[in-house]
Amino acid sequence: MDFGSTDVRDTCDDAAENGGRAAGAVGTRLRALATEAVHAGRDDLARQGLHAPPIDLSTTYPSYDSRGEAARIDAFATDGADPDGPPVYGRLGNPTVARFETALARLEGTQSAVAFASGMAALSAVLLVRNAMGLRHVVAVRPLYGCSDHLLTAGLLGSEVTWVDPAGITDALRPDTGLVLVESPANPTLAELDLRAIAHSCGTVPLLADNTFATPVLQRPAELGARLVLHSATKYLGGHGDVMAGVVACDEEFAGRLRQVRFATGGVLHPLAGYLLLRGLSTLPVRVRAASANAAELARRLRADPRVARVHYPRLGGAMIAFEIHGDPHEVIAGVRLVTPAVSLGSVDTLIQHPASISHRIVDAEDRRGSGVSDRLLRLSVGLEDVEDLWRDLDEALGSAPGDSSERELAAER
Ligand SMILES: *Cc1c(COP(=O)(O)O)cnc(C)c1O
Repeated sequence: MDFGSTDVRDTCDDAAENGGRAAGAVGTRLRALATEAVHAGRDDLARQGLHAPPIDLSTTYPSYDSRGEAARIDAFATDGADPDGPPVYGRLGNPTVARFETALARLEGTQSAVAFASGMAALSAVLLVRNAMGLRHVVAVRPLYGCSDHLLTAGLLGSEVTWVDPAGITDALRPDTGLVLVESPANPTLAELDLRAIAHSCGTVPLLADNTFATPVLQRPAELGARLVLHSATKYLGGHGDVMAGVVACDEEFAGRLRQVRFATGGVLHPLAGYLLLRGLSTLPVRVRAASANAAELARRLRADPRVARVHYPRLGGAMIAFEIHGDPHEVIAGVRLVTPAVSLGSVDTLIQHPASISHRIVDAEDRRGSGVSDRLLRLSVGLEDVEDLWRDLDEALGSAPGDSSERELAAER
């Protein structure tokens, strides 16, 4: 793992050469990721005599110029461009949310970003954009986050999905394929994919990479060829377990379609959430770096532990660990004291959960196991606590997991 600032700056420079998308505000030179995290979306503040960004809670905006408003609405209906001039109505766009969108686009190296009420609202909007164009077929690689899998498998939005291995993507493409969907590292197994190779095998079909686990600190999929980069911003971007949100970083053309769907279907992000997310971004590089150092050390100790059968920790690094144990995973969940037994991830505190029971429960058991989510897998989202305290808690919780009696209970659950 190398989190050096030079490394980040080089990558940003590459992105800038690929269309200038990572360039800072007009008149500023290129800035490293850590600098963007603190300043992007706030470039106008000092000139306004402000330090903290204002929170604009207006749902509507007064205007004595209804001809001008009509023109802005017409322009939005044409290409979904963010309306120039004063805002019109909260569902069309909000200035506080726009600051978060600007900042996230800067970090991911895309032209634009569009924020939604949750990660699932963001994924739904992408599917609706493609479905409305008659491109209802999706090619996807398992595992995905349980609810993303469910949304596709159940066809809730009228999509039809073909599940493939990465090598099978090109053969699975059809004239009505509107999207290729992958996660890397994947939830919950942390399986890693070669995004550059996958983008190549998609041809002209947009690749959506869910970058929730890696964050732009560790990986920027747009630089590897993904047209759409999705986040459950509920996780690392917010980072404190107190805001639910989703966002899609992409080119301006696709962003326009997403804004039109967001306007028409209403999955908007609340301005307070936009504020909290912008604040979360400012510490994202520091949080990811510190939590990743903890996770790398815990992964090392788990690997060396005879009670642990297998540890999955990405080559990319990061703050997520998945591990399979010889004993009963339910006993580990019941045994933690410092670590919080809860679904979700990416918070300042450490969370543990049993995917087969919770995050991936909604996925058919055969499909779930087939994609590597074994009944003995635990998923750990490592936070910012002292690593010795974390290890002591895990060590005790693992110690309370007996090897033999649990075999029968697990077999009975199947
Ligand atoms: C949590 C999660 C989602 C869904 O996001 P919500 O904000 O819970 O709607 C999507 N993808 C991944 C990888 C996730 O972990």
